[in-house]
Formats: sequence, C-alpha cells, structure tokens
Amino acid sequence: MQTIVVKFGGSSLANADQIRKATDIVKQNPSRRYMVASAPGKRTPDDVKITDLLYTCYDRAVEGRDWTSALSGIRERYEEIARDLGVTSVDLAAEFDTLQKHLEHEPKADYMASRGEYLNAKIIAAYIGFDFLDAADFIRFDETGVYDSEATEKLLVPLLLRHKKAVIPGFYGALPNGEIHTFSRGGSDVTGSIVAKAAKANVYENWTDVSGMLVADPRIVKDPRPIEVISYKELRELSYMGANVLHQDAVFPVYSAGIPINIRNTNCPDDKGTMIVRHVKNTQPEKIITGIAGTKGFTNILIEKSMMNSEIGFGARVLQIFADFNVSFEHLPSGIDTLSVVVATEDWKDARTDILKRIQEVTHPDNIKIEDHIAMIAVVGHGMVGTKGLAARVFNAIAKADLNIRMIDQGSSEINIIIGIKDEDYETAIRALYAEFEKDL
Ligand code: ASP
Repeated sequence: MQTIVVKFGGSSLANADQIRKATDIVKQNPSRRYMVASAPGKRTPDDVKITDLLYTCYDRAVEGRDWTSALSGIRERYEEIARDLGVTSVDLAAEFDTLQKHLEHEPKADYMASRGEYLNAKIIAAYIGFDFLDAADFIRFDETGVYDSEATEKLLVPLLLRHKKAVIPGFYGALPNGEIHTFSRGGSDVTGSIVAKAAKANVYENWTDVSGMLVADPRIVKDPRPIEVISYKELRELSYMGANVLHQDAVFPVYSAGIPINIRNTNCPDDKGTMIVRHVKNTQPEKIITGIAGTKGFTNILIEKSMMNSEIGFGARVLQIFADFNVSFEHLPSGIDTLSVVVATEDWKDARTDILKRIQEVTHPDNIKIEDHIAMIAVVGHGMVGTKGLAARVFNAIAKADLNIRMIDQGSSEINIIIGIKDEDYETAIRALYAEFEKDL
C-alpha cells in the first residue's frame, strides 16, 4: 500500500468547517495515513492566529501584565471547534488548567506556542479516529536547538510502524532534556517533511489555501499561471527569492529521500497544485522559465582595492568578518579590483558599523561604497540551461522599461539569472520580465 503524508496549514484547520474539509480529504484516500496539523489559523483576513495569541499570553505573563483574557479567547476557540465537531473525549478543562499553571510559574515561549498544534492535533485525532502522536516524543533537537535528524529517525521510524494511521502536531519537538522546542514560524511544513521521510512516503502532500505556487507574484502581475512541476533546486532559487508557499527547511528531509512534495488547496481539492520533484521531465520544452521572484531590502557593500586579484585570501578575509558577526551573505559578485558583498539589510543592521570598521582594519581597501534599498530578482528555470539569448532578453526587458541594473549574478548551474535593481524599481522590473517571458513560463 502507498503511504501519503499530509500536512494541513493553519487556514485549512482554522475552525470546524475547515477541519471537516481537511479530514474529508484524508478519508478520501486510505493511503493518506499520517496527518500533520498546524494550529488553527485565521478564519478571516483580520482574525488572529492561535499561535500569535499564545505568544501574546507568554509576552504578557513575562511582562507581568494580564494574560487571562487572551488565554480565555484561545480556550473559547478550541471549545467551539470541539463542540462543532462533536468531540467530547479531549479534556480541554484539564489542558487549560495545565496551561494556566505553566503561565503562573516561569512560562516558556516555545512551550506556549507549541500548544496551538498540540491541542488542534488532539481534537482532530479524536474526530477522525486516528492515533494521536505527540511530537515531543520523537522530534529531537540538540542542546543548541538544531534539529537532530538521526535521533528523530531512530525514534520515529519504529513508532510509525506501530501506528497505521495517526495525527501528529507540527512545529515542535523536544531538546535532549525534554524541554519543548519549536522550529521557526511556519515550521509545521518541516514536521510534515520529517514524517514523510520517516514513513518512506510516496508523496508528501502539503495542503494550504492556494492551488500551488505561481509563476510570479499575483500582487504584482495579473493572473499568473500556477506552476505544475518544479524541481527542488528551482524551488530553492525561487523560495529564497520570496515565493514563500513552503517553509525553506521543509525541502531537505524529503529531498534527501527523493519524495515529491505536492502543494494542494484544501478549498479546491480537485486542483492538481504544484508538484515539487527531484528531476523535471521536459514534457513541455516551450517552458524555458519556471518562475520569476524577488525580494526587496538588500544592501550592497562594494569593496575596491587595486591589485585585489593578486592578494591571496582577500575574499576569505572579508567573508570571515561577516561570519564572525554571524551575518550570512546572499551574493558575492566580483571584478578584478572589486568585491561586492550583498546582504539582507535587516540581517546586518546591528553589526553594520562594527563590520565596516573591521573591513577597513583587515583589508585596507581604497574605497568602500554602501548601497541600501536594493531588490534582487531571480529568473529561474531548468529550461534555461544551454538556451541562447536568455540573458540578453532579461537585460533588454529591463532596459526597455527604462530601469538601471545595479548588479548581475548568474549561478554557474545556469538555472537562474539574478539581477539587482533599486527597491523602487522592483514592481516595474517584475512586470517587464513577466511580459517578456509570459509565453515561455
Ligand atoms: N503555528 C505555527 C505558526 O503559525 C507553525 C505553523 O503553522 O506551521 O508559525
């Protein structure tokens, strides 16, 4: 029998109606054996996610402010969900007593946040009649909070063999001392991927509120087409540039096991969504480009020094400075006597003055120029490999839109061309590129 691991996001499980839709999808196919659940998300655009309410309770508790009404609000939402689903076997009164006691004595942010998925998964498991498996029992982090795949798989693989069908809360696990620890926000995607790998799933279905990824940002271009198939590598290039349907870290566990990810829409379950696979078979050779995506808010640090190319280790010394301040660089375009380090402005803002001082001391440059408000745009696609004239089309489209390209970076894998432009030109540039490549997308 096939095994499908399904993960439902917060909007797919925001209330009893949504949970019914999600569990109907699970029941429709007996291969859908493991269901990873997020905490209830927004029911309407101006609603508040349960996870955010739980963080609010925690913040108020540590600041010595009143958290009781926020906790009551959370409790009411779960009581309503359980009542509407007819679930009576989950003792919510006892669960909220425990939560209240936790808030009264040394509350912990990760523990509080994790209760969103814990309670939702418990109720859903009772409703659908699957086992409930607490992620704290098998998702393991090391003492520094880094996910420990070896320890997790040792616990999870045999556990899944003993449970044919289960609901598993996403987003959290435990440190070696048993303390609850969470992934970063949106981390239920990661849990789903870990479970899919441990279950040796045939596919990892990630159910959300959109019918897959789109070839471009719909807030900027009108009605972009959905992407039917994309490779893990292309997804990395695009997600890194902002097409955020899936948590960045969710790719790795399934990638190593070669399990495809299928992004699906709980509200339109008949839509095929986007399939993320290891290798894209080129069934549509006319689709040269898989997607166009970008992000604003980068800084370009241009270091100039004559005869830089003969100074062995120059680049290594510069990068070591960024590493010492725990700032990762995004791009590194270089010339004969210049080296540009592109970083997310937000990432280096606290260390900015110190980093610049160190660069002066260590490299004695002729000049350092800083440019903020840079947007990076990536044009991505396996079809680009070996296709002539593509770069020319990218630059032509930007030139025709009367915009200035500040920086160019083509990965040697040839599946992307990245350009840097001013933040204020970002939307115009995306539209210009979309118009140029619309028929190739
Ligand atoms: N509930 C968590 C969040 O809002 C994790 C998730 O939904 O994936 O970030």
